Amino acid sequence: MSKPPEEQPVDELPEALKGRRQLGPKETFCFACNPDVPCFTDCCRDINIMLTPVDVLRMARKVGLTTGEFLDTHTLLPITKELHLPVVMLKMGADDEKRCPFVTDKGCGIYESRPWSCRMYPVASAMPPARAGVQPETLHFLSEDDFCKGRTFDTEWTVERWRADQNIDEQEELEAGFRGLVSHPWFIGGRALNAKQMEAFFTACYDLDNFRRFVLESSFTSRFVMADSLVEKLKTDDEELLRFAYRWMRFALFGEPTMQTIAEAEGEADGKD
Ligand code: SF4
Ligand code: SF4
Repeated sequence: MSKPPEEQPVDELPEALKGRRQLGPKETFCFACNPDVPCFTDCCRDINIMLTPVDVLRMARKVGLTTGEFLDTHTLLPITKELHLPVVMLKMGADDEKRCPFVTDKGCGIYESRPWSCRMYPVASAMPPARAGVQPETLHFLSEDDFCKGRTFDTEWTVERWRADQNIDEQEELEAGFRGLVSHPWFIGGRALNAKQMEAFFTACYDLDNFRRFVLESSFTSRFVMADSLVEKLKTDDEELLRFAYRWMRFALFGEPTMQTIAEAEGEADGKD
């Protein structure tokens, strides 16, 4: 479970993390969560849960929707002037309690595909602002919410042990790829994406089914050097498509040489003749 906001580069700590205990790698915290806790599923309502691209993909597949349908049905896209990247939040139900649409009497109805921040709770995290020449490292904090009785149990954890218990590492490579985008040095100094770049970022990272159409059903493959085996993989392999989306963003937004146009490649070949 989680409270907002998570894993994003910040100029300073988000309001929700201020005053919380920071957890170093060796520091321990006590926590337990199971169907016998008196607060079971109390946390699954009226909360802000920020979704990563991996979350959107996994949740959409779990409930049998396209990424576009999932985004339309289950997410909110808060827009504020301060945002330098699109933010995707899980939409709570319209009932009085504002319950998560996936909560059931038996717990989370999409448990294996629940969002990253639901897995990590009570550990919250934030990325320090991008700085020239410094590899940003994620900072961890402990959420100590009154409604959550999990912290009254004496089972001890470190962040690392908690991550392992919650199977965080199974999606770490793809999450790290996304963190690499949002904490990219391009943003140093407060640079922000324009509306067109925001839209491209949103489609490539979050609306993967739409991005797949963009890559495979437009002139994309005739403009960029792409191995036939990669094109074939992108037709069905969601994770490979997400990796490719990150690669595309690094080229299209940040000007990194992660892609090559066919025109450039032919020019290089001519130069060698
Ligand atoms: S212990 Fe905390 S995380 Fe677990 S069900 Fe209760 S409120 Fe939610
Ligand atoms: S996705 Fe699952 S764990 Fe997260 S708030 Fe909804 S029901 Fe709770």
